[in-house]
Amino acid sequence: MAITKLARKKVREMTPYQSARRLGGSGDIWLNANESPFANEYNIKCDRLNRYSTCQPQELIQAYADYAGVSAEQVLTSRGADEGIELLIRAFCEPKQDSILYCPPTYGMYAISAETFDVDTKTVPLTADWQLDLPAIRDNLDSVKLVFVCSPNNPTGNLIKRRDLEALLDMTAGKALVVVDEAYIDFCPEASTVDLLSQYPNLVILRTLSKAFALAGLRCGFTLANQEIIKLLLKVIAPYPVPVPVTDIAVQALSPAGLAKTKFQVLDLSANRAYLQAGLSMLEGVTVFDGYGNYLLVKFPDAEGLFNTLWDHGIILRRSPVENCIRISVGNRDECEKTLAFIREQLNQN
Ligand SMILES: *Cc1c(COP(=O)(O)O)cnc(C)c1O
Repeated sequence: MAITKLARKKVREMTPYQSARRLGGSGDIWLNANESPFANEYNIKCDRLNRYSTCQPQELIQAYADYAGVSAEQVLTSRGADEGIELLIRAFCEPKQDSILYCPPTYGMYAISAETFDVDTKTVPLTADWQLDLPAIRDNLDSVKLVFVCSPNNPTGNLIKRRDLEALLDMTAGKALVVVDEAYIDFCPEASTVDLLSQYPNLVILRTLSKAFALAGLRCGFTLANQEIIKLLLKVIAPYPVPVPVTDIAVQALSPAGLAKTKFQVLDLSANRAYLQAGLSMLEGVTVFDGYGNYLLVKFPDAEGLFNTLWDHGIILRRSPVENCIRISVGNRDECEKTLAFIREQLNQN
């Protein structure tokens, strides 16, 4: 097509992020996007929609700062954590010159965002037990401005050792930022690195309301960092990034009642995760890896075949780049029971 030729070469050659939504499927049980099974109710006011929003609504910033245990100057809100990734790359990486570094298997958007802005990507795979390969990272830091680390890691589910994160922060001091993606940290808040912000000026933390707060459709995320970094990000963010109704809803989610609801739902999902883990572990040939988020990575003898059978029967899970592994989001108890029962039945047939 003629118009396609007008697009940047990079963009013409790119493969878009294969999000769970984009991959489609039709089914009754959706455990493929790490969404919450809970749909909570909110009130929205529509009396101010003729006016622009403020760039960083004070009420929302303060509410998240209080929740995260940081000061308001250390918080930036954006259209999901995904926009936070983009802003960091735009603010810190010179196109065709600087690089980002990340450790696969991990979240796919770091690479896609970098490519979009013509920023090179360096990869240092996680070790066999899915931890940081610090010596290899040290050897690959030339031209690197941002190191992305996801903990709990998507899709493997494990936590990255705190001591390794501290070593990485020391190793990169004055040279690069370490971006810890804590999209799932609300399921294991004690593992957060937020307390390290006071010690490390090069630490950045990504957060979101999409997972534990059950607001994936809201598109509301946060970047936590020291004020100097937040100020730089504010230079590159769009003038009105947060729609007024988004602020209204997010503030309700972060109110005392909203936080109590989330806490209860996190406990509920943790119990379902334990149920799935116990049930799947009992099946022969199946390995369930310990997971700290609202999903489990599970190894099957024939993951591809099983995935397709589940898909055909309306149980939509997520394929994983880890060989013979499927990522299963933790749903409500009914969804978990049906999924476990179906898998058990399939494996017994073969
Ligand atoms: C879901 C997810 C995000 C994106 O969060 P949004 O706020 O919905 O953009 C970022 N990082 C990881 C690891 C995720 O799984």
